[in-house]
Amino acid sequence: MVSANASVQMVFFPFVGGGHQIPMIDTAIASASHGANSIIITTLSNSLQFHKSIARHQHSGLPVSILTLPPNLEISDIDMSASPATDTSVLRQPLQQLLQDLRPDAIVIDMFHRWAADVIDELQIPRIVFHGSGCFSHCVFHNVTHYAPHEKLGFDSDPFVVPGLPDPIELTRSQLPPFIRDPSQGFDRRKKAEENSFGTVTNSFYDLEPAYADYLRDVIKTRAWLVGPVSLFNQKTEDKSERGKIPTIDEQTCLNWLNSKEPNSVLYISFGSLARLPRGQLKEIASALESCDQPFIWVVGKIFKSSETEEEDESDWLPDGFEQRTIETKKGLIIRGWAPQLLILEHKSVGGFMTHCGWNSTLEGLSSGVPMMTWPLSAEQFTNEKLVSRVLKVGVEVGSREWASWKDERREVVGKEKVEKAVRKVMGKSEEAEKMRERIRDIAAKARRVVDERGTSYADIDACIHELTLRRQTCFKTN
Ligand code: UDP
Repeated sequence: MVSANASVQMVFFPFVGGGHQIPMIDTAIASASHGANSIIITTLSNSLQFHKSIARHQHSGLPVSILTLPPNLEISDIDMSASPATDTSVLRQPLQQLLQDLRPDAIVIDMFHRWAADVIDELQIPRIVFHGSGCFSHCVFHNVTHYAPHEKLGFDSDPFVVPGLPDPIELTRSQLPPFIRDPSQGFDRRKKAEENSFGTVTNSFYDLEPAYADYLRDVIKTRAWLVGPVSLFNQKTEDKSERGKIPTIDEQTCLNWLNSKEPNSVLYISFGSLARLPRGQLKEIASALESCDQPFIWVVGKIFKSSETEEEDESDWLPDGFEQRTIETKKGLIIRGWAPQLLILEHKSVGGFMTHCGWNSTLEGLSSGVPMMTWPLSAEQFTNEKLVSRVLKVGVEVGSREWASWKDERREVVGKEKVEKAVRKVMGKSEEAEKMRERIRDIAAKARRVVDERGTSYADIDACIHELTLRRQTCFKTN
């Protein structure tokens, strides 16, 4: 058994996949830099995505390590649309064994790993739930579930105002995820798992959404440590570049291209790690870019295929000659696969971010001071859009109206005209655009302050670790 004065040992159990895993690993590193002994547990194949970055941190003296579950166990076929449909039963016993051996002071688990709650609680190990999203969307989802305003509407496209919130936030039923439209599909279980936890860790910061952080703590009564933006704990270029995966573009090629552009002139377009847009949609985006004559970096991930047998051929997803013209005029950079997003967003030439409003991308855009064109697709992205466009007023809505799982075919295609309008608004020189830039620069400055030694997120990480230390000492005294 560890001594009462040894470092607090925290186990982190991330959900497999970009948007949830990346910030959890950043949080493990941040906790290690605050003195905790951080251990990340995952499957062997998944650990390959980030083991180099962990090795770099170890090399610089941080107490952070990876522990893999038995090699024959793999978490695969993850359904991110509502509740993960993964067969997790095979993981229960190895997880229990591992925790029994380690006896950590706490385990931080992704909110999707609800299945692990009873295994952990049986061992009386404090369980901290990691939220993939911010306070605002938590409050919106809580109140929509509680007051059910969407149930009183005739049509999915009818707007309603979410009751009880600090701002009048308008949504439509078509923008709600299935697990909120019908809470028994997942939200109720998530709430229950949180109720019995030691607390929650949220990748956000108080000054970004103070009214909602207060609402979460005081009204919803969720115990939350706000520790973000955790992406800012990556200081070295390699760590910023290789978050989640190794980029498919050479980092220096990308930076050289950006260096050749005017400040604030480049539009960065990315829809995150999961989204698959249909070919028709990509064509609309390409035509809009040409009409605006807009310099851009466009990350094209996977393209939606309506069947497994559909050809992988990517040649017909752009208007004729678009890619050739892009290369010849040096107007744009198309990245197929994975981009070094943090490096791009932080570059002075980048002046706008067309984003699907995944919470990490949103927070990374905010912390880099880049105004946004918001284009939510699924998960809680429609609520993140409202935070950006209506509450913080640092982005323009492109006009996405329909929630759809990343696996399903989207019925809605947002037309070229809407895309063009949003691009011109954000990238232009109007007074409105200037004001947005000023506001977001102010947010970015705050984001950098909160992770500093006297900042609130810094203090929240310390507070969490301090509480676990006290708990350890109390347990020692009573045993
Ligand atoms: N990301 C990246 N390169 C890419 C695509 C995504 O580094 O080409 C990172 C991005 O910086 C963010 C995460 O992957 O940290 C995506 O998370 P987000 O919550 O924005 O969206 P999701 O992928 O979960 O839909």
